Amino acid sequence: MKKAVRLEALAKGVRRLGDSPLYEYREAQEYGPVFGEGDPDAEIMLVGEAPGREEAETGRPFVGRAGQVLDDLLASVGLDREHIYITNVVKDRPPGNRDPRVGEIGAYAPYLLRQIQIIEPEIIATLGRFATAFVLEHFEPSERGTSIGELHGKPIEAEAPYGPVMVFPLYHPAAGFYNPDLKDVMADDFRGLKRLAESVARG
Ligand code: URA
Repeated sequence: MKKAVRLEALAKGVRRLGDSPLYEYREAQEYGPVFGEGDPDAEIMLVGEAPGREEAETGRPFVGRAGQVLDDLLASVGLDREHIYITNVVKDRPPGNRDPRVGEIGAYAPYLLRQIQIIEPEIIATLGRFATAFVLEHFEPSERGTSIGELHGKPIEAEAPYGPVMVFPLYHPAAGFYNPDLKDVMADDFRGLKRLAESVARG
């Protein structure tokens, strides 16, 4: 079956996920879940934390203020959103944009793991500490627990169920709002992501 069809079947499961601790809040706010979007054959998959308000209102990942920063960083290295796949660890907006809770991460975990298995990316670039912790916990547990400050910008060889995958931890695009000193570091890390994508494409 085509990847897009398998992803759509999975997205339907998220839409109906009444067991999620965030489902009632989604319904009360008339929000939608944010499953993910992009090229199902992408070599690079970006994994963020959780949707914000604009994302929950539109059903699309990274369309608010952090999304603008992400788009600018991608454009600065000539990477195009249409050729990558973007999703989040948690598929519904946590109230007030608070950090996702363990039970929330657990509720969506099977969906993100299936998404990764369907897309089979060569590179998983994790945006921020929650996505980085999730992906390392599942694919490279020996790096688990290391801070994003140490991990960012360095590729990690990991093992996914479908084969080897490079994990590339990045600061969350919103990190620059709180710490403008990080902006140059973030731009540098995206140059590293581009170099990694080129070296993976060369084989
Ligand atoms: N922050 C995230 O982590 N994901 C989004 O989709 C938007 C903001």
